[in-house]
Amino acid sequence: MRELEARIRKDGTIRGTEVLKVDRFLNHQMDIELIGEIGKEFYRLFGGCGVNKILTIEASGIGIACITAQSFGVPVIFAKKNKTKNIAGDVYTAKVESFTHGKVYDIIVSKEFLGPEDRVLLIDDFLANGSALEGLIHLVSEAGATLIGAGICVEKAFQPGGGRIRSMGVRVESLARVKSMDEATNQIEFCQ
Ligand code: 5GP
Repeated sequence: MRELEARIRKDGTIRGTEVLKVDRFLNHQMDIELIGEIGKEFYRLFGGCGVNKILTIEASGIGIACITAQSFGVPVIFAKKNKTKNIAGDVYTAKVESFTHGKVYDIIVSKEFLGPEDRVLLIDDFLANGSALEGLIHLVSEAGATLIGAGICVEKAFQPGGGRIRSMGVRVESLARVKSMDEATNQIEFCQ
């Protein structure tokens, strides 16, 4: 998506070799007009697939998922980062390793909101090593729901997540795929 790539070039900041910050427009301050276009693009890609639920992970996926869900006319579920030790039996759970902190945590979704009748689109802001998506995929499979695919705003294609998730047979559509980035020169190259 050219508009997103242009915005990343203009307002994104590179931190070291691994992290791209998009706080100015995507996951701290949010440009709702741009995210509206992102939602429409996900609808163009997945609108014919019978999606009836959008699933994301707290926190930074939620806003993008909500605006996307307006294009689809379906509800959003966000997997919660579980804070309590005793996991009740009425939730699906998966483990996710945080890209930014390296810690492993549980995510949960109530069984009330996901089941075998559901056709699920995953939405997230970034795809790096793929742990967040893998956790969400696990929740969908625990629920016996149908996974339609994953819509990602920014995939860092030089990290292994995209390859890992696609090799599982999951359709991943990333609107901007970063091929390389260099903090010293602030240059970002996108995949064609
Ligand atoms: P993964 O699980 O694929 O390794 O990482 C994806 C998650 O980590 C996303 O939900 C996102 O919040 C966060 N993340 C990964 N890479 C970046 C990055 O370069 N910048 C920002 N802002 N978040 C990232």
